[in-house]
Amino acid sequence: MSREEVAAFVRRHVYPAEAVLDAGGARADEIRRELRELAREAGLWALPLPAELGGGGLDLRTYFELAETEGSSDHGPAVLGSASLLDVGMIAAHGTVTVRERYLRPLVAGEIGGAYAMTEPGVAGSDPTGITTVAERSGDGWRVTGRKWFTSGAATAAYVTVLAKTGRGELSLLLVPGNQVHLVRELPVLGAAGQCEIELDGAVVPDSHLLGSPGDGLAIAGGRLALGRTLRALRWVGQAQRAFELMCHRANDRRIRGGTLGGQQLVQQHVFESLLAIRSARALVGEAAGLVAAGRPAKTEVGLAKVAAARALHQVTDAAIQVYGAEGLLPDGPLPMLARLGRTARILDGPDELHVSATARRVLKQVEAERVEEGAPDQLVAGRDLAG
Ligand SMILES: Cc1cc2nc3c(=O)[nH]c(=O)nc-3n(C[C@H](O)[C@H](O)[C@H](O)COP(=O)(O)OP(=O)(O)OC[C@H]3O[C@@H](n4cnc5c(N)ncnc54)[C@H](O)[C@@H]3O)c2cc1C
Repeated sequence: MSREEVAAFVRRHVYPAEAVLDAGGARADEIRRELRELAREAGLWALPLPAELGGGGLDLRTYFELAETEGSSDHGPAVLGSASLLDVGMIAAHGTVTVRERYLRPLVAGEIGGAYAMTEPGVAGSDPTGITTVAERSGDGWRVTGRKWFTSGAATAAYVTVLAKTGRGELSLLLVPGNQVHLVRELPVLGAAGQCEIELDGAVVPDSHLLGSPGDGLAIAGGRLALGRTLRALRWVGQAQRAFELMCHRANDRRIRGGTLGGQQLVQQHVFESLLAIRSARALVGEAAGLVAAGRPAKTEVGLAKVAAARALHQVTDAAIQVYGAEGLLPDGPLPMLARLGRTARILDGPDELHVSATARRVLKQVEAERVEEGAPDQLVAGRDLAG
């Protein structure tokens, strides 16, 4: 299995199915099942999932080399069985024996899917401490009450991992079985299916379905963030690269004023700026991925990678549509879909502003700590001292 094989599979089988998969519904489920079967036959199924659970057993560093290509279609990870990587890691690390036995193998096999519900209507998703969903002790389990939205994949999930308050200010994560989750409505995001609003109306959850201990919710959620954001950033770079190639083909092919579109300097500028955005984002994402794969602290690098990759995808898809002209807005090609992904990327996984502020604060603190440690005044301070 190589990056070329993954690329060929995604181009040949996943790209042509994107419109149907984006539309959701029974037809999308059927096509996804067929494509997954093809992925298994091609030996490309669940590559980064543990071999002892039926996955491909690739270590993170090796998988990261494929993730950009696999994720060049938003549906690549679901079709190739790697979309459950975060849940499998979370349940394996924090789940009881009961939930590990119940969910891990079926997740890796693609027989079931999970969803993850933090965000709530009426509450700023960027600040999870404000959530209002509660889980109360009931017999030897929990009763969970609240409403969540933008819960990806909840319509077909076997369980939803729900962030809830379990005590005074204490946040916990519980796996709520799918039959306890009421689907309020599907939320089409710029026309695409996949997001849901759900209600938990005293949902009954056995004690075995609490992850870790009460109060561990934010720590466990934080644990999946570094890997989750890195994976998404890799995929966004892959999607930006795809839009970039389409733009270049169009610039080379389209005839205008006796030459090609690519001969126009303002089109060349789109090409240059897009290439710059992609290459810069790829370098930053690579740096974050290296640290995450090595299990080293990477908050600053992941923050930079998330923002750079989201901006690159947004910028490049916009430029590609501009160079294509009106045809770029039609669903005949993937540009509207890629533009939607670029727009949502700036909000997903923490809005860009959250990362900008958090990263800047962290760096300011770090620079100050280094200055104190070194004990040496910098030039400006020295200059002022002299002047004084
Ligand atoms: C396609 C899609 C899929 C999603 N999937 C899931 C999912 O599966 N599970 C889930 O729980 N959630 C999911 N979400 C929700 C997503 O995580 C939230 O939208 C995100 O956390 C932001 O929360 P919010 O929308 O409530 O915006 P708010 O928190 O209300 O923020 C609104 C805006 O305020 C600004 N802002 C926020 N914080 C700061 C700050 N610190 N400094 C300056 N400005 C700031 C930003 O401009 C931001 O866009 C999904 C969203 C989308 C679009």
